[in-house]
Amino acid sequence: MGLCDIQDIKAILARHGFHFSKSLGQNFLTEQWVPERIAAECGADAEACAVEVGPGIGCLTVQLSRRAAQVAAIEIDRALLPVLEETLAGCSNVEVVQGDVLKTDLRALCAQKFPGRPVYACANLPYYITTPAISALLDSGVFAGITVMVQKEVAERICAPAGTGNASAFSIYIQYHARAEYLFDVPRDCFVPQPKVDSAVIRLTPLAQPAVQVENEKLFFDLVRAAFNQRRKTLVNAIGVVFGGKFDKAQLTEMVTYCGLDARVRGERLSLDDYANLTGAACALMRAHGML
Ligand code: SAM
Repeated sequence: MGLCDIQDIKAILARHGFHFSKSLGQNFLTEQWVPERIAAECGADAEACAVEVGPGIGCLTVQLSRRAAQVAAIEIDRALLPVLEETLAGCSNVEVVQGDVLKTDLRALCAQKFPGRPVYACANLPYYITTPAISALLDSGVFAGITVMVQKEVAERICAPAGTGNASAFSIYIQYHARAEYLFDVPRDCFVPQPKVDSAVIRLTPLAQPAVQVENEKLFFDLVRAAFNQRRKTLVNAIGVVFGGKFDKAQLTEMVTYCGLDARVRGERLSLDDYANLTGAACALMRAHGML
């Protein structure tokens, strides 16, 4: 039985009366090289464990099972549990955990199942939860690496260096916490049913310390979000909202130029260091006005 063979996939699913759910982002891989390569790139080895999000019928799970000491695979769809029981019958180091990854305490799960072991997260993510799932994996603080397949355009944005125009508030959040690498493309014809978009695999390696030192983390991300929420506006015009409209344009312009930035610059042009400097200048101005 080939878990990436389209005829075998259809036969297993038909035997279990399973129908693909579009709303759960169910697009299963049909090319063996893809799960093999994701597992090879994810960093899990005999000393380490793996958490997979959304095993589907288990093609990536089997590959992780061959490399890692133990694997926990979180699957939301109860209809896939009997399928996985069959397809993973030979994988004694795999446990399927029924549940929603967004409602799972990942730190507690890893502490309970893999105490003291390095753990790597791995997934062909359902598109509809790309951003919250990556945030949950990163925020849990328990993974040595996070290797996930996402929509190609999302992968490009996540890995775009800040200041290059393709960056976003989400990419800055990720690059503040992790090193982001674009690994490889996966064309749409590698899935059943075939999605309307191509995919790509990225690897996030969480940093021991944030990429830049900031005086006030909340303010840093408030400024980033405000800048990208209105990315067509200049930075000066976009960030006023962060201060509840308390500073006029002249004050905001002085704050921006004090950081060595052009008064007409847009937020998408700033590096992480620029945002860190801006946060420092904003803290100073707020302190001077008794707002901090
Ligand atoms: N890993 C399989 C593969 O590569 O062929 C399936 C990947 S498919 C894109 C996404 C999988 O995630 C499906 O099995 C789906 O049921 C599951 N899923 C969707 N939402 C989920 C959630 N919130 N928590 C856990 N699993 C979820």
